[in-house]
Amino acid sequence: MPQVSSDVLVLDNFIGGRWVKAHATEYFDVHNPAAGEVIGRTPLSTAADVDAAVASATNAFPAWRDTPVNARAQVLYRLKALMERDFEELARTVTTEHGKTLYEARGSVRRGIECVEVACGAPSLMQGLGLEDIATGIDCHVVRQPIGVCAAIAPFNFPAMVPLWFLPFAIVTGNTFVLKPSEQVPLTQRKMVDLLQRSDLPPGVVNLVNGGREVVDAICDHPGIRAVSFVGSTAVARHVYQRATHAGKRAQALGGAKNFVVVMPDADLDRSIGVISESFYGCAGERCLAGSMLVPVGDVHRETRDRMVAAAQSLKVGDGMQPDVTMGPVISARHRERVVGYIERGVAEGAKLLVDGRRTRVADRPNGYFVGPTVFDEVSPRMAIGHDEIFGPVAAIAPAKTLEDAIAMMRSHPNANATSIFTSSGKAAREFAKHASASMVGVNIGVAAPMAYFPFGGAKDSFFGDLKAHGRDGIEFYTDKKVTISRWF
Ligand code: NAD
Repeated sequence: MPQVSSDVLVLDNFIGGRWVKAHATEYFDVHNPAAGEVIGRTPLSTAADVDAAVASATNAFPAWRDTPVNARAQVLYRLKALMERDFEELARTVTTEHGKTLYEARGSVRRGIECVEVACGAPSLMQGLGLEDIATGIDCHVVRQPIGVCAAIAPFNFPAMVPLWFLPFAIVTGNTFVLKPSEQVPLTQRKMVDLLQRSDLPPGVVNLVNGGREVVDAICDHPGIRAVSFVGSTAVARHVYQRATHAGKRAQALGGAKNFVVVMPDADLDRSIGVISESFYGCAGERCLAGSMLVPVGDVHRETRDRMVAAAQSLKVGDGMQPDVTMGPVISARHRERVVGYIERGVAEGAKLLVDGRRTRVADRPNGYFVGPTVFDEVSPRMAIGHDEIFGPVAAIAPAKTLEDAIAMMRSHPNANATSIFTSSGKAAREFAKHASASMVGVNIGVAAPMAYFPFGGAKDSFFGDLKAHGRDGIEFYTDKKVTISRWF
């Protein structure tokens, strides 16, 4: 395990089954965003570190791919047991380095464990197809085989969950793996790799390289890597997809979002306003599934607006470790400035600011990166707050006259990750689900997050690739289908 240098942890890479120093000359400070304190230093590793990780994964591949799938799954059963044992510690690490509340952090660890559980089904999920006598005396069968060394690049917002959308599916199908955490939140993934090591995973099957863009570009370019999974903002997702596929790799890149939440006049607001508010303010809005545009249709505008204002004002902002806190800080001082900048642009562009989170202060955490829940009304999709992904606790109310207008507003946006409708009309829900541009749709559900046995990913500028994350798509992404046609004399 990495050593603590003075009072701040300096992170190492994990290569060939050991924690090793990175070839880094620069470091990124990891913060506890509630306290505004530096709690670690992420080495900005170099292409030489990626080379070492790929060499280790390449060496480990032949023996691992020959390990029976059931034995590979046993490693994941052991990992699950260790994650259950250390569940609380993992959740507390997520809250410490990311800021989301402990309740939210626990939910994200649970989602990560679900991915491990689903991947344990590989002996069934990996099975192929077969048909005898495709011509007289000739049989055909298809098996799924691992493809080699695979890599995943993670964002900052779900350190316990997003890496597990990929890692368990990649290794259980017989591949070896290189993980690059976000430099902003490396601590949870360090713990998870430590648990993997204790799960009797052979050295080299999983490697971890800390760093930033140099590591990302080296992963995209490396001739020894066969597949790249990426999750992050749209600009970097597009870059990674183009660069990795240009180098001949299989790639899937999940990008940013601008999610529309539509409220119909027949919505049951008494039962829905809690989940609608949670959709916008959960994880301080730092979710790719977060509501961003709230679209009341017709005469439900005033009631939706008033209830949203009341819901925003009822939240308690503070350190996510405290049990009564319902919204934590955003990830960094820089991101706080960015979110505040968007609120200022919203005011300048003529939206009506109903709840202003800019001046929110937390008495016992004076240095934390807090932005309070914010509500704007009369937002147009042409305004910056109506168009850009803010990734903070800002609800932009943009009323529409009809459901068709609401759908058209959503469809005109380049992102298409998730969306939700609140209604008691089956017909409206059906129309909405059919014509929504987003590929994750909630009906009376605020955050339409597919479980680990379904595909996760958006459309348009929210997703580059074809096979999505986890579920059967995960198995498909990490395997090649080999067809054998045979005749015996
Ligand atoms: P980001 O794009 O800044 O960073 C993601 C990863 O890319 C990190 O590991 C980072 O080190 C690396 N990176 C950053 N800039 C780079 C560059 N110029 N060149 C190469 N690599 C670079 O994203 P983030 O801020 O960490 O995460 C938030 C974003 O992720 C939001 O846009 C959010 O919507 C998105 N996200 C999407 C999903 C999804 O399922 N679609 C899920 C979670 C997060």
